Amino acid sequence: MLTKTKIYLSSPHMGGSEQKFVNQAFDTNWIAPLGPNVDGFENDIKSYLGGNNEVAVLSSGTAAIHLALQLLGVSKGDEVLCQSFTFSASANPIIYQGASPIFIDSESDTWNMSPELLEIAIKDRIEKHKKPKAIIAVHLYGMPYKAEEINSIAKKYDIPVVEDSAEALGSTYFNQACGTLSDVGILSFNGNKIITTSGGGALITKSSELKNKAIFLSTQARDNAPHYQHSSIGYNYRMSNVLAGIGRGQMEVINDRVEARRKNHKYYKNNLSKFNTIEFLDEPEGFFSNRWITCIKTNSYELRESIRLALQKDDIESRPLWKPMHMQPVFKDYLSYTDGTSEKLFNVGLCLPSGSNLSQDDLDRVLSIITKTPNL
Ligand SMILES: *Cc1c(COP(=O)(O)O)cnc(C)c1O
Repeated sequence: MLTKTKIYLSSPHMGGSEQKFVNQAFDTNWIAPLGPNVDGFENDIKSYLGGNNEVAVLSSGTAAIHLALQLLGVSKGDEVLCQSFTFSASANPIIYQGASPIFIDSESDTWNMSPELLEIAIKDRIEKHKKPKAIIAVHLYGMPYKAEEINSIAKKYDIPVVEDSAEALGSTYFNQACGTLSDVGILSFNGNKIITTSGGGALITKSSELKNKAIFLSTQARDNAPHYQHSSIGYNYRMSNVLAGIGRGQMEVINDRVEARRKNHKYYKNNLSKFNTIEFLDEPEGFFSNRWITCIKTNSYELRESIRLALQKDDIESRPLWKPMHMQPVFKDYLSYTDGTSEKLFNVGLCLPSGSNLSQDDLDRVLSIITKTPNL
């Protein structure tokens, strides 16, 4: 009997040129966190994003968020407003800085930070004489957040925005690349993301001064001197030239990856929207999602669990939507401004296999399990 292979949620998908760039690193002995691949990968991302943006590639997306908070001067005792419906890596660097996160719930059009709740939170904190130091908003699952609304509120109160675009390389908002919509943006190249370097990230800034400051901090903050001289605390956050080689190969196929993920989404939507127990998140006018992960919203926790467990039985990976940060044990002592939106999504939503390397047979297999679920 033919044994079925496991279907993953989102697995790495090499394009073909990655090893060539990695071999070049070996051949020239650039086995270090600097070199031609690091520069090349930064240029590739920069030209892909367009506009006047500077890119520094780093060891992870989490490191990029950490440096973004440093660059914005977030420090001990500060408060930072953060989208609650996200992966913990959006919020953890707030704690690294000795600051406190305050979580903001989502709105239903994009599942991202609610502009209304954001403004309520800002007003409330200012009234309590604690003006927030920064805002972290997230393009979750590749869907852009309402950038115009968020940016105008941020501007009104003069609070900088960190744009967590870890899941949204290839997404655009009114034709502008996600990652470039705010003061500082970040990307991730972890193994499950739309392109990967196995592990890695990038910081996107509006000026080369800020980029150079990020690189300075990411390479142990060495002052300009013949000996090792330090006037500030540094980090070891720069990307390896070997891994940047993988990134250069991946950037050759980014457009295909976006297209394939969007095709997965279309397939699921075409075949599942006839069931009135299942809903999809549509793109508002002007919003373009890379559809990193296709998510469904069912009509109950029970149905979501039946689908998830049926898929699991067939060795198909699926996962409930992110558990909001305001519900996480580790963040239980921090403030939040919520209205139940993300909690509801967590209870009834499911992430479906969405890799760009899924075959038509894989997709058909996932669909046939879902459509056999009782009470669909
Ligand atoms: C993956 C991810 C990160 C962290 O990126 P790493 O490269 O894994 O450190 C941050 N935020 C979100 C929303 C993510 O999905």
